[in-house]
Amino acid sequence: MTSSRTLRRPADLVEAGLASFERLADLERVAERYAIAITPAMTALIDAADAHDPLARQFVPDPAELEVKPDEAADPIGDDMHSPVAGLVHRYPDRVLLKLVNVCAVYCRFCFRREMIGPGKPTMLSEQVLADAIAYISAHREIWEVILSGGDPLVLSPRRLAAVMKRLGAIEHVKIIRVHTRVPAVDPRRITSALVRALKASGKTTYVVLHANHSRELTPAAGAACGRIIDAGVPMLAQSVLLKGVNDDVDTLGELMRAFVECRIRPYYLHHLDRAPGTAHFRTTVAEGQDLMRALRTRFSGLCQPSYVIDTPGEGKVPIGTCVRSK
Ligand code: SF4
Repeated sequence: MTSSRTLRRPADLVEAGLASFERLADLERVAERYAIAITPAMTALIDAADAHDPLARQFVPDPAELEVKPDEAADPIGDDMHSPVAGLVHRYPDRVLLKLVNVCAVYCRFCFRREMIGPGKPTMLSEQVLADAIAYISAHREIWEVILSGGDPLVLSPRRLAAVMKRLGAIEHVKIIRVHTRVPAVDPRRITSALVRALKASGKTTYVVLHANHSRELTPAAGAACGRIIDAGVPMLAQSVLLKGVNDDVDTLGELMRAFVECRIRPYYLHHLDRAPGTAHFRTTVAEGQDLMRALRTRFSGLCQPSYVIDTPGEGKVPIGTCVRSK
């Protein structure tokens, strides 16, 4: 499957052979509520002949997204209750999340921020909101780390990203800037030397955390994009989401972790899926996740062991590895 442009409408998906014409009306209903974007790199990876393709499952909309369960919530991890100023989440004492942009290169069908991102929302923080967020970080000396998230901050132009990094770089007590992104895998051409230069802030350490959920996302082009970042002195970590029908078996999960390590990326988090609206068809149980982690540990190198975590509005991120057994 090839396409030279990002697919954004259900009709684009039908035209590209990723959905049948009979499904068009159903997909239009999903598109009224949730954004769609599938980059050329991801479109090329999808096997349209496979009804269970793990890449299609992550990016091609499904009418099941309109089935909202009683325990699902628009803000499943409680960002809003920890937001002292717009665009900023201060949940843990030593770090904040700065939600710079509300757009992404791809829109994942299981996204926990799906109600806050996408077309129709402001694309980036306004200058005033950003200034207020930077002022908050400057005033709180306990903030050691700033996590740029969104949306996906690497959809910004190098010039805009560099401007934000410069402002963060001027805050003496901030030592670490962490960038959460899917771009190196889903749109590797964006990782230009200018964008890599923009990742650096004088006197600070930048980490890039790549979100990917299946080893097929780590193509040679993605590996090369990550290599450009790492070769510039920016270490990379990986985070993944445990997703039914995508990576919920030990072989697939182990291959994903190996693919990260082979790209010089250290597996960091495996997230239990948050309870965002319309995502039940992706959900495994915690017990299934713990069994997978146990199997991963017996079969794969220590380098391939992420920390299995669940996010809760009250307690934040809680490791649920294999020591606790709950059904
Ligand atoms: S890239 Fe991240 S923020 Fe964007 S849709 Fe996917 S999971 Fe959500």
